[in-house]
Amino acid sequence: MEEVLAATFGQPGSGKLDFNSASKDAMAGRLRDALARNGVPMAEPQLQKLVADILNFRDTPPRSGLIADFNQLIGDVEALEAFNVGWAFLHELDHVVNDSSDNAGLDETGECESHINAMRRECGLPSRAEYFFKFFPAADQSDFRTRFVRIAFDKTDAKTNKRHRYWVTWDAVIVGGLQVATAR
Ligand SMILES: [Zn+2]
Repeated sequence: MEEVLAATFGQPGSGKLDFNSASKDAMAGRLRDALARNGVPMAEPQLQKLVADILNFRDTPPRSGLIADFNQLIGDVEALEAFNVGWAFLHELDHVVNDSSDNAGLDETGECESHINAMRRECGLPSRAEYFFKFFPAADQSDFRTRFVRIAFDKTDAKTNKRHRYWVTWDAVIVGGLQVATAR
């Protein structure tokens, strides 16, 4: 999966498609080739829906997903590596390819994120522990304009079998998530 992404979307100036400015046709073409090359054939309507979803994710402010700006996230390095625009993209990809859902209760991740968590573990990154963000204790009653929220990520140390918890934190006023009660 990562190879597909790396082969498909690169940085500006590297000769690879620039994710931030690519047209729908360019993205569909690049994705079609990359998926085929990596042995992931996709029917054309499915591919078109995927590209539409990706562009919607990229272009709609605030993004259809939870996070409007990944640059505004703060937190533990381990958790930030497990929760960036690449993982958000994979999340959207999984919805389309596996028709997975985000139905999740409190302290659950839902079907889609459980797939993404398996990939995170393959990469040695902590797993997302919950689908819904939580307010910092009392943050929702604060008079401050900021509304800090956070999502937990867990990783079990292979040697000690001890679980470590990492956090991604953001101000929901700036970054989003308050109007949309659910993250996509
Ligand atoms: Zn989702």
